[in-house]
Amino acid sequence: MTYAPGSPKSLRAQNRDRVLSALLRQGSMTQVQLARVTGLSPASVSNLVRELADSGRIEVESTTSSGRAANLIRLATDNRVVVAVDVDHQRIRIAVSDANRTILAERSSPLVEGHHVDDDLDLALAMAHSCVADADHTWTDVALLALAVPAPIDMRNGVLGSSSILPGWAHIAVGEELQRRAGIEVFVENDANLGAWGEYINGAGRGSQTMAYLKVGSGIGCGLVLNGVLHHGAGGMAGEIGHTTVDEHGPICRCGNRGCLESFASGPVLLRALQQSHPEIHDVAGVITFAHMGDPGTRRVLADAGRAVGVAVANLCNLINPDRVVVGGEMAQAGDVFLDPLREAVARFAVPSVVFPDLIVGSGLGDSSELVGAVDLAAARLTATA
Ligand SMILES: [Zn+2]
Repeated sequence: MTYAPGSPKSLRAQNRDRVLSALLRQGSMTQVQLARVTGLSPASVSNLVRELADSGRIEVESTTSSGRAANLIRLATDNRVVVAVDVDHQRIRIAVSDANRTILAERSSPLVEGHHVDDDLDLALAMAHSCVADADHTWTDVALLALAVPAPIDMRNGVLGSSSILPGWAHIAVGEELQRRAGIEVFVENDANLGAWGEYINGAGRGSQTMAYLKVGSGIGCGLVLNGVLHHGAGGMAGEIGHTTVDEHGPICRCGNRGCLESFASGPVLLRALQQSHPEIHDVAGVITFAHMGDPGTRRVLADAGRAVGVAVANLCNLINPDRVVVGGEMAQAGDVFLDPLREAVARFAVPSVVFPDLIVGSGLGDSSELVGAVDLAAARLTATA
């Protein structure tokens, strides 16, 4: 509906949208918080809340805040839920959420070595069904399924690009395939993009405007939030920082180029470097455990990886001048053993004016950034269609 600009009705409609989008963006809050977030007067908020509650758009619950009676406002939800599915090389994770981003149930299952995309999709769907049942819902309540994949996605056709993490998933329109099997709408998003969005909404990127999120693990992905908007690039391929050149004479990368960042700093590279000295270590978690015990060899490979990632991040900072760089993924769980060399490299190679204290921080959501981002975007779509 459109109103003549400047008319009282137009202003009221705008204020109503401000209230609804604040609730959509930040979840439930008290009437006082709502006034603060929207910048509207308490009296206006009170009127709008009454109007929106009467029309069934929001729900009001009596509660207490700082010991005083207060009204807790949330967007009205019907019985619909969303399912978020996060797939990486080791496991599938599922979360079921309502439109207010309340996680109702979660499940996780390991993926066996050499798994096939058909089996992965069957397993994801079976887990999703169980998780929806765990949440006391039925499959008919599921409005949308959000799928996080560790691969770039061609936005023109939904086809996944090559992925070091799920090689069997490359060149497949996996969203379309899952939608056919699930019988409900599916949207697919790159996992680093969802991780970026999760950290931006509810993690270490909160309050940021121009933010980069790095997911460093089996591969190296990057999601960008520019002026509060998730940045996909022209074809959905933005953020392929893992394939920026570190050494043009370096080893051949799976992408066909030489000396990409992933050839120096991803999980498999670290494990290869430790093969002879640490044959008992088989995964990145093992590398981190040894490093935390003070083992010099594992600390050295993590530091080298941090430095290599830092050189790429320095270039990124020069290009987009972020106010926050959030580093997540399995490798970031090493903490300062990995992050300090990364910070030092950024300080050394970026122009000084783009580097400031606390620019580079570890993930605020641990290994849940991607699920939080997927739930948020799915719930936003759900509410937008309510
Ligand atoms: Zn490459």
